[in-house]
Amino acid sequence: MDQNPFLTPSFPSRLPEVGTTVFTVMSALAAEHEAINLGQGFPDFPCDRGLIAEISAAMLADHNQYPPMAGVLELRHGIAQKISVLYGHVYDPETEITITAGGTQGIMTAILSCVSPGDEVVIIEPAYDSYRPSIDLAGGKTIAISLLANRNDHGLVVSYEIPWDNLSRAINPKTRLIIINTPHNPTGMVWQASDLERLSQLVKNTDALIVSDEVYEHMVYDGHTHQSIASHPALAARSFLISSFGKTYHVTGWKVGYVAAPAAMMKEFRKVHQFNVFTVNTPMQYGLANYLKNADHYLKLPSFYQSKRDYFKKGLQNTGFKLLPSPATYFQCVNYTDLQIPQSKLNEADFCSWLTTKIGVAAIPVSAFYAKPIESGVIRFCFAKKEQTLSDALARLQTL
Ligand code: GLN
Repeated sequence: MDQNPFLTPSFPSRLPEVGTTVFTVMSALAAEHEAINLGQGFPDFPCDRGLIAEISAAMLADHNQYPPMAGVLELRHGIAQKISVLYGHVYDPETEITITAGGTQGIMTAILSCVSPGDEVVIIEPAYDSYRPSIDLAGGKTIAISLLANRNDHGLVVSYEIPWDNLSRAINPKTRLIIINTPHNPTGMVWQASDLERLSQLVKNTDALIVSDEVYEHMVYDGHTHQSIASHPALAARSFLISSFGKTYHVTGWKVGYVAAPAAMMKEFRKVHQFNVFTVNTPMQYGLANYLKNADHYLKLPSFYQSKRDYFKKGLQNTGFKLLPSPATYFQCVNYTDLQIPQSKLNEADFCSWLTTKIGVAAIPVSAFYAKPIESGVIRFCFAKKEQTLSDALARLQTL
Protein backbone atom coordinates (compact mmCIF):
# COMPACT_ATOMS: atom_id res chain seq x y z
CA MET A 1 0.00 0.00 0.00
CA ASP A 2 1.19 3.52 -0.77
CA GLN A 3 2.33 5.70 2.09
CA ASN A 4 0.13 8.67 2.92
CA PRO A 5 1.93 11.35 0.84
CA PHE A 6 0.96 14.08 3.31
CA LEU A 7 2.51 12.35 6.32
CA THR A 8 5.91 13.54 7.55
CA PRO A 9 8.19 10.49 7.53
CA SER A 10 9.39 9.43 10.95
CA PHE A 11 13.13 9.47 11.56
CA PRO A 12 15.36 8.66 14.53
CA SER A 13 16.14 11.66 16.73
CA ARG A 14 19.79 12.69 16.86
CA LEU A 15 19.19 13.83 20.44
CA PRO A 16 16.53 11.48 21.82
CA GLU A 17 17.14 12.44 25.45
CA VAL A 18 16.99 16.18 24.87
CA GLY A 19 13.97 18.42 25.39
CA THR A 20 13.90 22.22 25.32
CA THR A 21 16.72 23.80 27.31
CA VAL A 22 15.74 24.67 30.88
CA PHE A 23 16.64 28.35 30.34
CA THR A 24 14.07 28.72 27.57
CA VAL A 25 11.47 26.71 29.48
CA MET A 26 11.82 28.78 32.65
CA SER A 27 11.82 32.11 30.78
CA ALA A 28 8.59 31.08 28.98
CA LEU A 29 7.01 30.00 32.28
CA ALA A 30 8.05 33.29 33.89
CA ALA A 31 6.53 35.28 31.01
CA GLU A 32 3.31 33.25 31.09
CA HIS A 33 2.85 33.84 34.82
CA GLU A 34 4.29 37.36 34.85
CA ALA A 35 6.90 36.22 37.35
CA ILE A 36 10.09 38.14 38.04
CA ASN A 37 12.62 36.27 35.94
CA LEU A 38 15.72 35.43 37.98
CA GLY A 39 16.09 32.19 36.00
CA GLN A 40 17.89 32.45 32.65
CA GLY A 41 21.09 34.47 32.96
CA PHE A 42 20.64 37.86 31.33
CA PRO A 43 20.54 41.45 32.56
CA ASP A 44 17.24 43.35 32.68
CA PHE A 45 18.95 46.76 32.55
CA PRO A 46 19.93 48.55 29.35
CA CYS A 47 23.35 48.31 27.78
CA ASP A 48 25.52 51.41 27.42
CA ARG A 49 24.04 53.91 24.92
CA GLY A 50 27.63 54.50 23.79
CA LEU A 51 27.78 50.89 22.57
CA ILE A 52 24.52 51.31 20.66
CA ALA A 53 25.92 54.50 19.13
CA GLU A 54 28.98 52.57 17.93
CA ILE A 55 26.79 49.89 16.31
CA SER A 56 24.48 52.48 14.72
CA ALA A 57 27.48 54.35 13.37
CA ALA A 58 28.81 51.11 11.86
CA MET A 59 25.48 50.46 10.14
CA LEU A 60 25.30 54.03 8.87
CA ALA A 61 28.85 53.69 7.60
CA ASP A 62 27.54 50.85 5.42
CA HIS A 63 29.25 48.01 7.25
CA ASN A 64 26.33 45.78 6.36
CA GLN A 65 27.69 43.08 4.05
CA TYR A 66 29.47 39.85 4.93
CA PRO A 67 32.54 40.35 7.05
CA PRO A 68 35.55 38.04 6.64
CA MET A 69 34.58 34.50 7.62
CA ALA A 70 36.64 34.57 10.83
CA GLY A 71 35.31 37.99 11.80
CA VAL A 72 36.18 41.68 11.39
CA LEU A 73 39.96 41.87 11.68
CA GLU A 74 39.88 45.04 13.77
CA LEU A 75 37.79 43.24 16.39
CA ARG A 76 40.07 40.21 16.33
CA HIS A 77 43.03 42.56 16.88
CA GLY A 78 41.25 44.14 19.84
CA ILE A 79 40.57 40.73 21.37
CA ALA A 80 44.19 39.63 20.89
CA GLN A 81 45.33 42.84 22.55
CA LYS A 82 42.95 42.41 25.47
CA ILE A 83 43.97 38.78 26.07
CA SER A 84 47.64 39.64 25.89
CA VAL A 85 47.31 42.49 28.42
CA LEU A 86 45.09 40.57 30.84
CA TYR A 87 46.43 37.04 30.55
CA GLY A 88 49.81 37.36 28.89
CA HIS A 89 49.26 35.12 25.88
CA VAL A 90 49.65 36.51 22.37
CA TYR A 91 47.15 35.05 19.87
CA ASP A 92 47.58 35.86 16.19
CA PRO A 93 44.37 37.68 15.16
CA GLU A 94 44.73 36.35 11.61
CA THR A 95 44.92 32.68 12.43
CA GLU A 96 44.01 32.17 16.08
CA ILE A 97 40.83 34.14 16.81
CA THR A 98 37.34 33.68 15.36
CA ILE A 99 34.19 35.67 16.11
CA THR A 100 31.23 33.41 16.91
CA ALA A 101 27.49 33.78 17.31
CA GLY A 102 27.85 33.65 21.09
CA GLY A 103 29.62 31.34 23.51
CA THR A 104 27.31 28.36 23.00
CA GLN A 105 28.05 28.28 19.26
CA GLY A 106 31.76 28.55 19.97
CA ILE A 107 31.55 25.56 22.30
CA MET A 108 29.51 23.46 19.85
CA THR A 109 31.83 24.29 16.95
CA ALA A 110 34.95 23.56 19.00
CA ILE A 111 33.54 20.16 19.93
CA LEU A 112 32.45 19.31 16.38
CA SER A 113 35.86 20.32 15.06
CA CYS A 114 37.88 17.89 17.15
CA VAL A 115 35.69 15.11 18.56
CA SER A 116 35.27 12.02 16.35
CA PRO A 117 32.85 9.14 16.96
CA GLY A 118 34.04 7.07 19.90
CA ASP A 119 36.24 9.81 21.38
CA GLU A 120 35.79 10.53 25.06
CA VAL A 121 35.06 14.00 26.38
CA VAL A 122 35.35 14.74 30.10
CA ILE A 123 32.97 17.24 31.68
CA ILE A 124 32.66 18.28 35.32
CA GLU A 125 29.10 18.35 36.64
CA PRO A 126 27.19 20.48 37.42
CA ALA A 127 27.80 21.43 33.78
CA TYR A 128 26.17 23.86 31.39
CA ASP A 129 23.44 22.02 29.53
CA SER A 130 24.81 22.49 26.00
CA TYR A 131 28.01 20.47 26.54
CA ARG A 132 26.54 17.00 26.51
CA PRO A 133 24.25 17.35 23.44
CA SER A 134 27.14 18.94 21.52
CA ILE A 135 29.33 15.94 22.35
CA ASP A 136 26.48 13.59 21.36
CA LEU A 137 26.14 15.27 17.95
CA ALA A 138 29.85 14.77 17.36
CA GLY A 139 29.45 11.07 18.21
CA GLY A 140 31.63 11.44 21.29
CA LYS A 141 31.16 9.77 24.62
CA THR A 142 30.63 12.02 27.63
CA ILE A 143 32.54 11.07 30.75
CA ALA A 144 30.98 13.11 33.57
CA ILE A 145 32.70 13.54 36.90
CA SER A 146 31.36 15.62 39.80
CA LEU A 147 32.71 18.79 41.32
CA LEU A 148 33.65 18.19 44.96
CA ALA A 149 31.71 20.20 47.52
CA ASN A 150 33.21 21.02 50.92
CA ARG A 151 30.47 21.29 53.56
CA ASN A 152 30.23 22.80 57.03
CA ASP A 153 28.86 21.04 60.13
CA HIS A 154 25.31 21.81 58.98
CA GLY A 155 25.89 20.11 55.64
CA LEU A 156 25.92 23.39 53.74
CA VAL A 157 28.39 23.82 50.89
CA VAL A 158 31.12 26.33 51.74
CA SER A 159 33.43 25.82 48.77
CA TYR A 160 34.10 23.63 45.75
CA GLU A 161 37.11 21.74 44.49
CA ILE A 162 38.09 20.09 41.24
CA PRO A 163 37.84 16.29 41.71
CA TRP A 164 41.49 15.72 40.84
CA ASP A 165 41.57 11.99 41.56
CA ASN A 166 38.49 11.34 39.46
CA LEU A 167 39.73 13.61 36.71
CA SER A 168 43.05 11.80 36.64
CA ARG A 169 41.25 8.45 36.45
CA ALA A 170 38.94 9.72 33.68
CA ILE A 171 41.82 10.65 31.38
CA ASN A 172 42.99 7.84 29.08
CA PRO A 173 44.21 7.47 25.48
CA LYS A 174 40.61 7.85 24.22
CA THR A 175 40.24 11.27 25.87
CA ARG A 176 40.04 13.82 23.07
CA LEU A 177 38.73 16.74 25.06
CA ILE A 178 38.25 18.05 28.59
CA ILE A 179 35.71 20.85 29.05
CA ILE A 180 36.35 23.23 31.91
CA ASN A 181 34.36 26.29 32.94
CA THR A 182 35.74 29.09 35.06
CA PRO A 183 34.12 31.13 36.55
CA HIS A 184 31.69 28.26 36.87
CA ASN A 185 28.01 28.30 36.05
CA PRO A 186 26.07 27.64 38.30
CA THR A 187 28.32 27.48 41.41
CA GLY A 188 30.51 30.54 40.80
CA MET A 189 33.60 28.48 41.55
CA VAL A 190 36.79 30.01 40.16
CA TRP A 191 39.88 28.07 39.17
CA GLN A 192 43.13 29.10 40.88
CA ALA A 193 46.51 29.29 39.14
CA SER A 194 47.45 26.12 41.03
CA ASP A 195 44.42 24.35 39.51
CA LEU A 196 45.60 25.20 36.01
CA GLU A 197 49.06 23.92 36.86
CA ARG A 198 47.60 20.71 38.19
CA LEU A 199 45.52 20.24 35.04
CA SER A 200 48.60 20.78 32.92
CA GLN A 201 50.41 18.03 34.84
CA LEU A 202 47.49 15.67 34.20
CA VAL A 203 47.38 16.27 30.45
CA LYS A 204 51.06 16.78 29.69
CA ASN A 205 51.74 13.36 28.17
CA THR A 206 48.35 12.98 26.52
CA ASP A 207 46.70 14.22 23.32
CA ALA A 208 43.73 15.64 25.21
CA LEU A 209 42.57 19.07 24.07
CA ILE A 210 40.71 21.52 26.30
CA VAL A 211 37.67 23.71 25.88
CA SER A 212 37.81 26.48 28.47
CA ASP A 213 34.43 28.19 28.83
CA GLU A 214 35.26 31.60 30.30
CA VAL A 215 32.16 33.59 29.41
CA TYR A 216 31.96 35.00 32.98
CA GLU A 217 35.62 36.07 32.97
CA HIS A 218 34.82 39.63 34.10
CA MET A 219 32.46 38.74 36.93
CA VAL A 220 34.78 37.74 39.75
CA TYR A 221 34.40 39.11 43.30
CA ASP A 222 35.89 39.29 46.78
CA GLY A 223 39.42 39.86 45.52
CA HIS A 224 39.53 36.68 43.39
CA THR A 225 41.09 36.99 39.96
CA HIS A 226 40.09 35.13 36.85
CA GLN A 227 42.70 32.57 35.83
CA SER A 228 42.31 32.21 32.09
CA ILE A 229 43.60 29.16 30.28
CA ALA A 230 45.51 31.76 28.24
CA SER A 231 47.58 32.58 31.32
CA HIS A 232 49.12 29.09 31.27
CA PRO A 233 51.25 28.64 28.13
CA ALA A 234 51.31 24.83 28.16
CA LEU A 235 47.53 24.67 28.50
CA ALA A 236 46.95 27.47 25.98
CA ALA A 237 48.85 25.32 23.46
CA ARG A 238 46.02 22.75 23.57
CA SER A 239 42.95 24.86 24.36
CA PHE A 240 39.97 26.57 22.82
CA LEU A 241 39.25 29.65 24.92
CA ILE A 242 35.58 30.70 24.73
CA SER A 243 34.22 34.13 25.69
CA SER A 244 31.11 36.23 25.15
CA PHE A 245 30.44 39.89 24.46
CA GLY A 246 26.80 39.29 25.36
CA LYS A 247 27.76 38.56 28.96
CA THR A 248 30.42 41.24 29.25
CA TYR A 249 28.50 44.14 27.69
CA HIS A 250 24.94 43.31 28.84
CA VAL A 251 23.79 42.38 25.32
CA THR A 252 23.00 38.67 25.50
CA GLY A 253 20.48 39.01 22.66
CA TRP A 254 23.16 40.07 20.19
CA LYS A 255 24.79 36.66 20.31
CA VAL A 256 28.37 37.69 19.66
CA GLY A 257 31.33 35.93 21.25
CA TYR A 258 34.73 34.62 20.26
CA VAL A 259 37.05 31.67 20.36
CA ALA A 260 40.84 31.82 20.60
CA ALA A 261 43.03 28.78 20.00
CA PRO A 262 46.41 27.82 18.52
CA ALA A 263 46.45 28.04 14.70
CA ALA A 264 46.33 24.27 14.15
CA MET A 265 43.18 23.98 16.26
CA MET A 266 41.63 27.14 14.84
CA LYS A 267 42.14 25.83 11.30
CA GLU A 268 39.84 22.88 12.09
CA PHE A 269 37.44 25.11 14.01
CA ARG A 270 36.97 27.39 11.01
CA LYS A 271 36.29 24.43 8.70
CA VAL A 272 33.17 23.73 10.75
CA HIS A 273 32.30 27.35 11.51
CA GLN A 274 32.26 28.38 7.82
CA PHE A 275 29.58 25.85 6.89
CA ASN A 276 27.44 26.40 9.94
CA VAL A 277 27.36 30.05 10.95
CA PHE A 278 29.65 31.25 8.13
CA THR A 279 29.94 34.78 9.52
CA VAL A 280 28.59 36.78 12.45
CA ASN A 281 26.77 40.04 11.80
CA THR A 282 29.01 42.82 10.58
CA PRO A 283 27.88 46.09 12.22
CA MET A 284 27.98 44.52 15.69
CA GLN A 285 31.58 43.54 15.09
CA TYR A 286 32.67 47.01 13.97
CA GLY A 287 30.83 48.58 16.88
CA LEU A 288 32.33 46.16 19.37
CA ALA A 289 35.82 46.72 17.92
CA ASN A 290 35.59 50.40 18.83
CA TYR A 291 33.92 49.84 22.17
CA LEU A 292 36.53 47.27 23.19
CA LYS A 293 39.24 49.95 23.01
CA ASN A 294 38.10 51.30 26.36
CA ALA A 295 39.15 48.69 28.93
CA ASP A 296 37.08 50.39 31.65
CA HIS A 297 33.97 48.83 30.15
CA TYR A 298 35.03 45.40 31.35
CA LEU A 299 37.38 46.34 34.18
CA LYS A 300 34.56 47.98 36.14
CA LEU A 301 32.32 44.89 35.94
CA PRO A 302 33.52 43.14 39.11
CA SER A 303 32.55 46.04 41.39
CA PHE A 304 29.34 46.67 39.42
CA TYR A 305 28.16 43.10 39.84
CA GLN A 306 29.60 42.58 43.31
CA SER A 307 27.35 45.29 44.67
CA LYS A 308 24.32 43.63 43.04
CA ARG A 309 25.34 40.30 44.51
CA ASP A 310 25.82 41.82 47.97
CA TYR A 311 22.45 43.56 47.81
CA PHE A 312 20.71 40.34 46.77
CA LYS A 313 22.57 38.23 49.35
CA LYS A 314 21.68 40.63 52.13
CA GLY A 315 18.00 40.41 51.21
CA LEU A 316 18.13 36.62 51.05
CA GLN A 317 19.52 36.53 54.57
CA ASN A 318 16.03 37.51 55.76
CA THR A 319 14.56 34.36 54.22
CA GLY A 320 14.74 30.68 55.07
CA PHE A 321 16.93 30.02 52.03
CA LYS A 322 20.48 28.93 52.83
CA LEU A 323 23.05 30.69 50.68
CA LEU A 324 25.79 28.83 48.87
CA PRO A 325 29.06 30.59 48.01
CA SER A 326 28.96 32.91 45.00
CA PRO A 327 32.47 34.27 44.42
CA ALA A 328 31.88 34.85 40.69
CA THR A 329 29.39 34.83 37.76
CA TYR A 330 26.04 36.55 38.11
CA PHE A 331 24.41 33.63 39.85
CA GLN A 332 23.57 32.96 43.48
CA CYS A 333 22.64 29.40 44.42
CA VAL A 334 20.49 28.69 47.46
CA ASN A 335 19.27 25.63 49.30
CA TYR A 336 15.51 25.60 49.99
CA THR A 337 15.16 22.40 51.99
CA ASP A 338 15.01 24.17 55.37
CA LEU A 339 12.05 26.38 54.43
CA GLN A 340 9.16 25.66 56.77
CA ILE A 341 6.69 24.98 53.96
CA PRO A 342 5.50 21.70 52.40
CA GLN A 343 7.06 22.68 49.05
CA SER A 344 10.53 22.38 50.56
CA LYS A 345 10.15 18.64 49.95
CA LEU A 346 9.68 19.10 46.19
CA ASN A 347 12.42 18.20 43.75
CA GLU A 348 14.35 21.13 42.27
CA ALA A 349 12.45 21.31 38.98
CA ASP A 350 9.05 21.17 40.69
CA PHE A 351 10.16 23.66 43.32
CA CYS A 352 11.21 26.11 40.57
CA SER A 353 7.88 25.68 38.75
CA TRP A 354 6.02 26.31 42.00
CA LEU A 355 8.18 29.31 42.86
CA THR A 356 7.59 30.78 39.40
CA THR A 357 3.86 30.17 39.14
CA LYS A 358 2.77 30.69 42.76
CA ILE A 359 5.33 33.04 44.31
CA GLY A 360 6.18 34.92 41.14
CA VAL A 361 9.95 34.49 41.06
CA ALA A 362 11.61 32.27 38.44
CA ALA A 363 14.80 30.33 39.20
CA ILE A 364 16.76 27.50 37.59
CA PRO A 365 16.93 24.01 39.16
CA VAL A 366 20.58 23.03 39.56
CA SER A 367 19.50 19.45 38.72
CA ALA A 368 19.34 20.67 35.09
CA PHE A 369 23.14 20.79 35.12
CA TYR A 370 23.35 17.01 35.61
CA ALA A 371 22.52 14.14 33.23
CA LYS A 372 21.31 12.10 36.20
CA PRO A 373 19.94 14.80 38.48
CA ILE A 374 21.40 14.90 41.96
CA GLU A 375 18.61 16.26 44.15
CA SER A 376 20.37 18.45 46.67
CA GLY A 377 17.58 21.03 47.00
CA VAL A 378 19.58 23.77 45.29
CA ILE A 379 18.28 26.37 42.84
CA ARG A 380 20.02 29.21 41.01
CA PHE A 381 19.00 32.85 40.94
CA CYS A 382 20.45 35.40 38.49
CA PHE A 383 21.22 38.75 40.13
CA ALA A 384 22.11 40.63 36.92
CA LYS A 385 19.05 42.79 37.47
CA LYS A 386 18.05 46.34 38.36
CA GLU A 387 17.96 46.97 42.09
CA GLN A 388 14.18 47.44 41.82
CA THR A 389 13.80 43.99 40.24
CA LEU A 390 15.93 42.41 42.96
CA SER A 391 14.03 44.20 45.70
CA ASP A 392 10.64 43.15 44.24
CA ALA A 393 11.85 39.56 44.01
CA LEU A 394 13.21 39.66 47.56
CA ALA A 395 9.89 40.96 48.87
CA ARG A 396 8.22 37.87 47.39
CA LEU A 397 10.91 35.47 48.58
CA GLN A 398 10.76 36.93 52.10
CA THR A 399 7.15 35.71 52.41
CA LEU A 400 8.36 32.10 52.39
N1 GLN B 1 24.17 30.88 30.11
C1 GLN B 1 22.86 31.33 30.46
C2 GLN B 1 22.41 30.74 31.78
O1 GLN B 1 23.04 29.88 32.31
C3 GLN B 1 21.81 30.94 29.47
C4 GLN B 1 22.16 31.03 28.04
C5 GLN B 1 21.09 30.40 27.24
O2 GLN B 1 19.93 30.38 27.64
N2 GLN B 1 21.46 29.88 26.12
O3 GLN B 1 21.39 31.14 32.25
